[in-house]
Amino acid sequence: MTLPNYLRVLAAHLAASPELRGKVGHVEIRHDDFCAHWLGRPCNCNPQVLTGPAIDRKYEDGR
Ligand SMILES: [Zn+2]
Repeated sequence: MTLPNYLRVLAAHLAASPELRGKVGHVEIRHDDFCAHWLGRPCNCNPQVLTGPAIDRKYEDGR
């Protein structure tokens, strides 16, 4: 099984974000247009990973 690229990027993002440790929050993964994710296959792009108060508000407000 191929590990989707976004999991590697997410793991690196979390490792570099000590302010997120011990907290629960939303994570937004933004895949490139060419990513295989959009075809139902494992992610093969280098996605943006967004976290933090602005992302939490975005999903909690339903906007
Ligand atoms: Zn992707």
